[in-house]
Amino acid sequence: MTASVSLPPVAEAARRALPAFVRAREQMMWIGGRQVAAASGRTLPNTDPATEEALAGVPRGEAADVDAAVRAARAAFTDPAWAGMSPDRRGRILNRIADVIEKHADELATIDSVNMGAPHRVTTHMLAEASETFRYYAGWPTKLSGVAVPAGNDHMLYTRKEPLGVVGVIWAWNGPMGQLPGKLAPALAAGNTVVLKPAETASLSTLRLAELLATTDLPAGVVNVVTGLGSEAGQALVGHPGVAKIAFTGSTATGKAVQRLATDTLKRVTLELGGKSPSVVFADADLDAAARGVAAGFLGNAGQACVAGSRVFVEEGIREEFVQKLLKTMEAAFTPGDPLTPGTLVGPVSNKAQFDRVSSYLDIARQEGANVVTGGGRFGDHGYFIAPTLLDNVRPGMRVVREEIFGPVGVLSTFTDLDDAIAQANDTDYGLAASVWTTNLTTAHRMAAAIEAGTVWVNSWGQMSTGNLPFGGYKQSGLGYEGGLEGLDAYTQAKAVRITL
Ligand code: NDP
Repeated sequence: MTASVSLPPVAEAARRALPAFVRAREQMMWIGGRQVAAASGRTLPNTDPATEEALAGVPRGEAADVDAAVRAARAAFTDPAWAGMSPDRRGRILNRIADVIEKHADELATIDSVNMGAPHRVTTHMLAEASETFRYYAGWPTKLSGVAVPAGNDHMLYTRKEPLGVVGVIWAWNGPMGQLPGKLAPALAAGNTVVLKPAETASLSTLRLAELLATTDLPAGVVNVVTGLGSEAGQALVGHPGVAKIAFTGSTATGKAVQRLATDTLKRVTLELGGKSPSVVFADADLDAAARGVAAGFLGNAGQACVAGSRVFVEEGIREEFVQKLLKTMEAAFTPGDPLTPGTLVGPVSNKAQFDRVSSYLDIARQEGANVVTGGGRFGDHGYFIAPTLLDNVRPGMRVVREEIFGPVGVLSTFTDLDDAIAQANDTDYGLAASVWTTNLTTAHRMAAAIEAGTVWVNSWGQMSTGNLPFGGYKQSGLGYEGGLEGLDAYTQAKAVRITL
């Protein structure tokens, strides 16, 4: 896999037809229903990771901009236009947002593909999940209720589920339109207002979405967007006393820093963090299906998935047969290509910093004595492409086995039996997801119960919830849940009312 990547004609045509939005000189933030530049006038560049060409810049929002956005969100929170809106109307607005996302799905998917390199097929899928998530939460405002609690004749006791206030949303670059809905939809369904801080290298789709939200009946100031650096805008949002909750997706290290800072003002915090998820293949599995699923697990979105199945465990007796199938699948379906070419499953990694980080892990792998079965370096001569890489001869203590690489790199080991598979799968600080490949029902259920992870797929990898299932991490993969009722409760607080009769 050393061929150079040249953009095929289809992709070149797609690039000529790119939405004007990504080519504009610079985009604007959204505060209080108005488009604004950063108070400092400064901007941040954006780069297409497949071509290394410049895209529209975004404002470099800082503390002053965050303060303005939080003030706007606080004003909107108590404004009767939002605070007094009927639950039915709020539900209809969420459905309207789903409509708008559906209508503009191709445009938003293209913006993300160009801005952060995920294949169009992947970003399109994320947009489909996005609209479904808004539809799921559109049903909740009319059902979000407290309870009447039994009491004697002298009292009436009941509870109310109330919104928290202003929610700060901070998330990562690897799936801007994939990660936002699980936070924004329940926050709005519960009646909160929000300040969004997208990742600095992948903010364009959020700014375009904000333009589209302005065409719905959402009152001004309910959704605000401040672009900028994590160390500036992000930190200011987490530290702001006017923010009631931070919903965060990102690395475990940053998540811990966010939680520490949020403690000063005792904000609620939910954290969706990193992973080093196991894919476990038993000898009785459908090995062709397993090879496809395992390859997708560590190569999908160029391995930049929090749920990436980057640790592969194969039952000893089928190791050779499975590795041959896996290599064939990697070659046939996962050769990197232009994200805009239909059918591409692996694009470039998302930005230069990530390219350097993944490259350094490949050096570390060699230094630690891992064997490079395939890949192991840059793919092509331009763009931030990394060759799909499989490593074996790895030991449990190696950094490439323990740390999240967040690139198209899998590490392969074998196991002897079910107990050994469970022990190795759980030998990690993370616990976000796992996939198990077996045709034995007992093995499937035993593994599903024993694996310490928030999501376990059996005979598949990667299907995400469209709002209706809780998604969260065990151990150092997160705190709290997104999705389902758990994901809605995370945006509410309970009030007890005691009336003396
Ligand atoms: P980071 O933690 O570096 O950044 C995430 C977001 O936090 C970005 O918007 C970033 O801003 C911002 N940020 C950075 N520093 C601070 C700070 N001190 N205070 C407040 N905000 C800050 O993660 P990456 O962007 O590198 O994303 C990759 C990580 O995200 C991986 O570990 C991956 O596993 C995880 N992830 C988890 C998911 C889950 O649901 N569990 C889903 C997807 C990804 P800036 O843009 O300036 O860096």
